[in-house]
Amino acid sequence: MHAVDAFSPDYATARRRFRELAAERGFVLSEHPVGQVGPAGEELSIDVAWKGAAAPRRAAVVSSGTHGVEGYFGGAVQLALLDGPWGSAEVPDDCALVLIHAINPYGFAWNRRVNEDNVDLNRNFLLEGQTFSGAPDGYRRLDGLLNPPSPPAGFEAFLPRAAWQILRTGFGALKAAIAVGQYEFPQGLFFGGAGPSRSQELLAELLPAWFASTERVVHLDLHTGMGAWGTCTLAVAEDESSDRVRWLAETFGADSVQGLSEDGVLYPIRGVLGAWLQEQVPACEYQCMLAEFGTQPVLRVLQALRGENRAHHHGVAGSASSQRAKQTMLAAFAPGSTSWRQAVVDQAVRLAETARTTLHEPAQ
Ligand SMILES: [Zn+2]
Repeated sequence: MHAVDAFSPDYATARRRFRELAAERGFVLSEHPVGQVGPAGEELSIDVAWKGAAAPRRAAVVSSGTHGVEGYFGGAVQLALLDGPWGSAEVPDDCALVLIHAINPYGFAWNRRVNEDNVDLNRNFLLEGQTFSGAPDGYRRLDGLLNPPSPPAGFEAFLPRAAWQILRTGFGALKAAIAVGQYEFPQGLFFGGAGPSRSQELLAELLPAWFASTERVVHLDLHTGMGAWGTCTLAVAEDESSDRVRWLAETFGADSVQGLSEDGVLYPIRGVLGAWLQEQVPACEYQCMLAEFGTQPVLRVLQALRGENRAHHHGVAGSASSQRAKQTMLAAFAPGSTSWRQAVVDQAVRLAETARTTLHEPAQ
């Protein structure tokens, strides 16, 4: 399969292709409905394809669609893996290859980054003791700019106003105010939720059953929208100087692995998937990396998110302005460029193959 052909036109098609190809390649499938339906009334579920030991000593995991619409890309990578190296791989007796399709199926089906409750899932996985409350002061000040309570307008002054904010406060301050996550504006961008999402509840049931006695999991959670066009960053919610980041850098290449630092992708976001996964299976060394593939410049991506969120809450579904907002969203998170699609799928397949080779390393 050509990398470009691995992209599907919608969630329903992506899901059907994933399930058919996984079954054909001898993976065991399970489905986990989230209790929502898609645009054609179709059931939405997280689908899991599993090859190898039921209680593995080691596992390699690739997940897609934590941010809904980013599942066009993640699903394409999973299809390319099933059609290619993971579909034909010999898995050691005590190991497993696991593909998790559409962690946020609602967002994928409806071309949103968030789920059915406007929740950004990568702000929803709070750790023991953290609460679903609070918002940075900077976010409160920018609420009117980020989340205007009106339908999309013909003329948008967002980019100049955002640029002015950057000049005034600096880009780091803007990012820390916005992208860190907030729990006070349920219709706003980067809302982390009022409680655990359905996706989180499902994963909380599945994780201990899968990996309670596993020695090590290497997990790539696939994303788009941050970084330079067509390039990849592997972000880990760990201190840059930790053993974990060192091991990942040795395994995946020092240039591409980024731990927590002030200018890093994950700093200082609460509620990201990786640390939460580790908390579910404390006896396992759970190495989860957020694999970010760049599309457009960051303010363009933010503008796309803002327009789509505004159309969703205040626009008329199907109107010209709402459709334009959806098209802008797709351009920001699933670019149609053939060369981009080829480049990012190829890179992601190579990373997944590196994750798979860790199954063969001698025991620690
Ligand atoms: Zn994402």
